[in-house]
Amino acid sequence: ASKALLIAIDGPVAVGKSTVGRMVASRLGYRFVDTGTMYRALTWKAIQQKIPFDDEAALSHMSANTTFQLTTSGSNGQNNILMDGQDVGRQVRTAPVEKSVSLVSKVPEVRESLVRHQRRIAQEGRVVMAGRDIGTVVLPQAELKIFLAASPLERARRRYQELLDQSQKVNFEEVLSDLQSRDDMDIHRQVSPLKPATDAYILDTEGLTAEQVANKICALALGKSPSETC
Ligand code: C5P
Repeated sequence: ASKALLIAIDGPVAVGKSTVGRMVASRLGYRFVDTGTMYRALTWKAIQQKIPFDDEAALSHMSANTTFQLTTSGSNGQNNILMDGQDVGRQVRTAPVEKSVSLVSKVPEVRESLVRHQRRIAQEGRVVMAGRDIGTVVLPQAELKIFLAASPLERARRRYQELLDQSQKVNFEEVLSDLQSRDDMDIHRQVSPLKPATDAYILDTEGLTAEQVANKICALALGKSPSETC
């Protein structure tokens, strides 16, 4: 079987898309693109520029005037997204960005410009791209489409642990309700809502480690059965 050159990984909040996506990319020697970071970065920029989240025209204008690049840095060859030449990876994983990102990502023109950047980055192939609409809209031609699933409680537990590990002050109920309201907005928006592509492989991650999930995806990418080792 031939090797999948484009791998799309979609799924809800905190299901492990980027953890698993990075593992798969590094095993296959592919680049990893986390498209959530791009929506978060634009949200951060809107906050900096004091653009109201209901001003769709201003958000569209801002997104049309923003550049994105994928860098490969560090000894581990980790891929990061640069916005306007800047690594905003840390600034975008914050509560204010998280609260508003779904308002920015529902604007059609914002999505159009980000999708253009994402397709350009994927053009050379050998890429693992994670998001909400990669299999359905961004790369419908991807040879392998994965839709990761886990219950809201399981995902809230993972996210809660992740925040505790970063020694952030967190409340479990709040983590759970934030996650559910973001999913709700992503699932019910008009353009490119979160949903599995009709030809996606639905992978239930409940009770699996990230390594186990990555192994299944890697095996599928090589045309093997997901239960084989990759
Ligand atoms: O994946 P992450 O949680 O970082 O994504 C942040 C937000 O960006 C999502 O809640 C969603 O609103 C938006 N997003 C999107 N389409 C993508 C990736 C992310 O709408 N492909």
